[in-house]
Amino acid sequence: MFEQGDGTKLNDEVIKKLCDKFGIKLSTEKAAVEIPVAPAVQRVFEVEKGYCPNPNCPSHIAYEVDGRKFLKPDRRLQDPVGGKFCAICGEVLEKRCPNCGSLVHDGAVCSICGESYIAI
Ligand SMILES: [Zn+2]
Ligand SMILES: [Zn+2]
Repeated sequence: MFEQGDGTKLNDEVIKKLCDKFGIKLSTEKAAVEIPVAPAVQRVFEVEKGYCPNPNCPSHIAYEVDGRKFLKPDRRLQDPVGGKFCAICGEVLEKRCPNCGSLVHDGAVCSICGESYIAI
């Protein structure tokens, strides 16, 4: 029946019986398929980071630590293509700490001198 192409009676039980009959080890385990994980796409700013020095710019994220207020520049809004101007308010972006002149990094406070980038 099977040889003539009629597979209607072919099921797991029949296959198992046939395997037993012919001494074939039947593997019921499914092959483990590993799905490759795409490497995390990280947004890299190759150009010098800039921040909007305008304390009234709505792009800043305000927060408070121990009663001290900070404004964290949101560079995704201000400098989406590494440009020169804030995309929100049009202010010229600062590339250096106003106090010590070191290059800026992500965050609200200069890691070299501790000065807030944006004075409140
Ligand atoms: Zn701005
Ligand atoms: Zn500094």
